[in-house]
Amino acid sequence: MMVCSKILLLILGSLYAVVVNSDNLSQYDDLKVIRVRPVNHFQMISLLDLEDDIDFWRRPDQINRFADLMITPNNSQRVMHYLSSRNIAYEILINNVRTVVQNERDQMAKTKKRLEMLRSSDSLRTDIIVGFWQSYQRYEAIENLMNDLQNKYPNLVAKINFGKSFEGRELNLMRIGAISDDKKPVVFIEGGIHAREWISPAFVTHFANRLLTGYENQDADIKKLMETFDFYIVPLLNPDGYEYTHTKYRLWRKTRSIQKSSSCIGADPNRNFGYEWGGEGTSNNPCSEIYTGTKAFSEPEVKAETDYIMKHLEGRALVYVAVHSYGQYLLYPWGYTDKQTPDNDRLDGMAKLATDAMAKRYQSKYIYGMSTTVLYAAAGAGDDWAYGAASIPYSYTLELRDTGSHGFQLPPEQIIPTSEEAGDGMITMLLAIIKNDL
Ligand SMILES: [Zn+2]
Repeated sequence: MMVCSKILLLILGSLYAVVVNSDNLSQYDDLKVIRVRPVNHFQMISLLDLEDDIDFWRRPDQINRFADLMITPNNSQRVMHYLSSRNIAYEILINNVRTVVQNERDQMAKTKKRLEMLRSSDSLRTDIIVGFWQSYQRYEAIENLMNDLQNKYPNLVAKINFGKSFEGRELNLMRIGAISDDKKPVVFIEGGIHAREWISPAFVTHFANRLLTGYENQDADIKKLMETFDFYIVPLLNPDGYEYTHTKYRLWRKTRSIQKSSSCIGADPNRNFGYEWGGEGTSNNPCSEIYTGTKAFSEPEVKAETDYIMKHLEGRALVYVAVHSYGQYLLYPWGYTDKQTPDNDRLDGMAKLATDAMAKRYQSKYIYGMSTTVLYAAAGAGDDWAYGAASIPYSYTLELRDTGSHGFQLPPEQIIPTSEEAGDGMITMLLAIIKNDL
């Protein structure tokens, strides 16, 4: 019975993935997001069995911690039956995804109109970044922001190309620091690896700008960070997927690479890193949301980033932070096993300081801990690779707002507060690392 239901879900899941390909609101009709909370090992394993076929917005990773999954008109009956036969209680988190996507679009259109009016007034015409964080920006606007920041702060910013995406978009990062001498310890920040997590590139660019304006305004803490570290900031590692979420399907997660063996597109770039690649919590089914890719580093975006780190930053990279949403977590390795790293106490201590700081401004609660606190692993992620293969001692995954009420469609008015609190956490952690003699 269990095998049957799995196969059926797989077929329906694949059909669904093929059908969804136009930017039409009706494609979100009657998609629902439900929240489950596994209370024992059996329920946990049952949910993990679904992970290959169902789109988990928030994966099940710990008993008694919530997981969110999206159900479609095609599979909802089957999933409900699967859950109830295993006594897994659920609540409906989002009753109709169409409404949430519609609201997000309306809000962004309104903001755009308001900003156009503002920009046409003389006093603001010269401000290059007015309004950038009042809405979610497209690839081109993010590229332009990097150019503008480099032009505005030529001594502090260098825009660096490190490769091309599958569809041929340039992959660029910003190196930010005062007196960069290629010797300073490096803080590497990776944004936008999962396409639909729009708050990630928004926060990462906000943080870059905060470093620059803080330095300009002689903020003592930021001055210290800018003088101690070189920041390497990738705002958008998966531009193909990101553009697809803006033009075709808001909920796309993976890359957009074409698979030889399947009509399904893309791999999960955060299961594609070459450290314990293909282990637990991954799938070799190209239609799965957690598909590993054909081999480690098969995705050009992941290959380009990791090659750049190994070639140019090896031995200097001290901190790596991969920025995702949602759930409000700050996690550290390992993700592939429940064993602790030798640096567990240090990683844990810094995560506590960071999450305490993140709670101060708006009382947002972020949970910190090891990625696999119990048993339920996800192998091939960036933070494990950074720690295990690139020997970056402070390696983290930051899951930004919220805790599920909007999911990936975090309202644009939360971009700035989210970025402020997350930036507070980063600054506090980095200052503590300096205090600890790096
Ligand atoms: Zn993610």
